[in-house]
Amino acid sequence: MRGKRSKQYRKLMQQYGLSFGFREPYQVLVDAEILKDADRFKMDLVGGLERTLHGKVKPMITQCSMRHLYAATNEPGMSFVIDKAKMYERRRCDHRPEDYPEPLSAKECLASVVDPKGAKTNKHRYVVASQELEVRKHMRGILGVPLVYINRSVMIMEPMAGATAEMREKEEKVKFRDGLKGRGSGSQGMKRKREDDGDDKETANDGADAAAKKKSKYGKGPKGPNPLSVKKSKKKADGEATAPEKKQDAEEAGDASTVAATADGSEPGSKKKRRRKHKSGNEGGDSEAVAASREGAEADMDVDAED
Ligand SMILES: [Zn+2]
Repeated sequence: MRGKRSKQYRKLMQQYGLSFGFREPYQVLVDAEILKDADRFKMDLVGGLERTLHGKVKPMITQCSMRHLYAATNEPGMSFVIDKAKMYERRRCDHRPEDYPEPLSAKECLASVVDPKGAKTNKHRYVVASQELEVRKHMRGILGVPLVYINRSVMIMEPMAGATAEMREKEEKVKFRDGLKGRGSGSQGMKRKREDDGDDKETANDGADAAAKKKSKYGKGPKGPNPLSVKKSKKKADGEATAPEKKQDAEEAGDASTVAATADGSEPGSKKKRRRKHKSGNEGGDSEAVAASREGAEADMDVDAED
């Protein structure tokens, strides 16, 4: 069971990485209660987090959570817990004692840190490790917040929440539509880019994505016929049927002078055709041919103008 769950969690974190840009070291906001419970169950909190999240973690604690610990300083073993918490990076929530004589609840404080603007996004990509159901319940409503808690000395990571899972599903569909499925690193870059939305960071991946996007755009675009061939068929329509045959004869002969002669004698429509074919088929021909080409080109312009 343990192995199976471990695999599940690794996959989960991979999905958070792909869809929301989570990267090691994972920033984990721990609340006062999970610190206490870890101590109660004699668990190594950071080690447990790294095994659960399958990567290096950077534990962080807010000023309010720290105050919660200090408030419980008379409970047994608290000095040990506080000493441990002091080693973690302090996340400034700016809920100062002057403004808040009582520390904010874990829910209020962590909510303001994870999603300060109430935009329902986890901009700084925090993992939240909290023992409080209220906290986790609130975080499930924010997109892309991995949630961890301890249940009877076992660390648990919650499956992706409704909104997060839905968003991921949508992205999968987009990826499929773009034909990027199975491209490995390519699709990864794509997703990361999307997650970065507000950050506007230019990365090497972005370049690759742009290229991929361009490619797919071309593939999807309307396949218009070669404009040159369109023009030709138009001429054929209002020209006479014999002209193409004549032209081919001239080409097969490969004699530039013949072409020049016929070009002079025939009317503009057929002249144009003959000249063009000749030009493309006979590079580096003699000067006579070039002269004929010029004439043809002029004729072309006339014809075009008339159209
Ligand atoms: Zn706070």
